[in-house]
Amino acid sequence: MPADMDAEQFRAFGKATVDYIADYLEGIRDRDVLPSVEPGYIKPLIPDDAPEEPQDWQDVLKDVERVVMPGVTHWHSPQFHAYYPTANSYPGIVGEMLSAGIGCIGFSWMTSPACTELEVTMMDWLGKLIGLPQEFLNCSDGPGGGVIQGSASEATLVALLAAKERTVQRSNSSVEKSGVLGSMKMRLLTTDENCSFRGSTLEAAIAKDIEQGLIPCYVIATLGTTGTCAFDNLEELGPVCIKNNLWLHVDAAYAGAAFICPEYRHHMNGVEYADSFNFNPHKWLLVNFDCSAMVKNSHDLVDAFSVERVYLAHQKQGLAPDYRNWQIPLGRRFRSLKLWFVLRIYGAQGLRDHIRKQIRLAKDFEAMVKADPRFEIVTEASMGMTSFRLKGPDHLTKTLYEKLISEHKIYLTAATFGKKFMIRFVVCSRFTEEKDIQFAWQEICRHIEPVEGNENDREKLIEIPSLKTNNCSTKESLRKPVILGNSR
Ligand SMILES: *Cc1c(COP(=O)(O)O)cnc(C)c1O
Repeated sequence: MPADMDAEQFRAFGKATVDYIADYLEGIRDRDVLPSVEPGYIKPLIPDDAPEEPQDWQDVLKDVERVVMPGVTHWHSPQFHAYYPTANSYPGIVGEMLSAGIGCIGFSWMTSPACTELEVTMMDWLGKLIGLPQEFLNCSDGPGGGVIQGSASEATLVALLAAKERTVQRSNSSVEKSGVLGSMKMRLLTTDENCSFRGSTLEAAIAKDIEQGLIPCYVIATLGTTGTCAFDNLEELGPVCIKNNLWLHVDAAYAGAAFICPEYRHHMNGVEYADSFNFNPHKWLLVNFDCSAMVKNSHDLVDAFSVERVYLAHQKQGLAPDYRNWQIPLGRRFRSLKLWFVLRIYGAQGLRDHIRKQIRLAKDFEAMVKADPRFEIVTEASMGMTSFRLKGPDHLTKTLYEKLISEHKIYLTAATFGKKFMIRFVVCSRFTEEKDIQFAWQEICRHIEPVEGNENDREKLIEIPSLKTNNCSTKESLRKPVILGNSR
């Protein structure tokens, strides 16, 4: 057996694996969404040491079903309703494959012009698709433009570092010398009754910080929070940030994809005030992980991250972005390929259909909950998510939740909101259909049937007076971070 796989073997291995993936996704509805393994399950299934002799790819592929699949949580199962979606589509998968095949590291234009230029163009395509203002785009005059980061967390950190740099630059030299802003203080702020972070809250926090000798620097607003998919008020926050010279970062990791549909763009009114904007096509736009799109003023990023070395220089420098200066790592993959494939093969229309269908399915689920007097909606359906609980004390919903998870048939995540325990329901998989929503609802109801069958218990359940829960309790609810500079 030759040590190196040749092209013929690769063709066979690759094609067999594509078949395996297609079979897996086609049959995913029939697998339990949650695995039934215990920690340490894999150890008895594989040897303790790497093999000395090369092995056949056929044997390796066979072991995927035996070793890997029993321990997979099936994120693309139509019964997966936890967290937020992670994208998966055939064009996205093939884009990943091609990216691996080319295997370039595009940290500067010269290291693969296609890798840089396709990314520049894809970021403009995306920016226009979701209706961002001109100044966010590379094709406009000025420093606008986008970059693909690995994750929203990374994008938020990149913007934070750029904001810190910008604040140091405009500060008194003594500030720079003393190296303040070296560590940043972070403040979590409260939201209103609709879980929206408002301008007056920010203004009060800034005044307090300045009074304490702090230098406010960076504000993060969220469009589509993880807990309840709430939207912060950019129209109010924006002018406060401008007035106080604060970097405004907008995190629209999940909900940003919905802005490809014009009817949802009002949620981002005021985005023109933002210094950076980020959303994850790898969440809700059918582009496989990792693909987090980040846009706005490239000069600020380059100022913060640019490191020049003789061996990194090239003759066309300055004529096209050198993306290493827009990110934390040096190396970067050819991630725009999968975006290009998805945007072309679905088309804007296909992607809008996907978003609208998932929003409709979440509404369908909400309607089932609302029609059942044993349940209450905690936060109204927003985008593809809603949240619910059994009326009455928390332990009823907790017990229901534990039963659901232990059966592995549907996967949901729990949260507390306004001090109450609730279950989040998110339409995640592109395979989810009406029948899956009905299945989820049946599963939920099945676990409370004993209660339904027993009139006494049932009355107990329904008649326990419940507090009003459609609103978040103002001060205790979601808190939004504002990151501030250190003292002088
Ligand atoms: C999912 C999510 C994140 C984290 O995204 P990563 O790309 O996994 O880092 C951040 N913010 C919001 C609002 C999210 O929904």
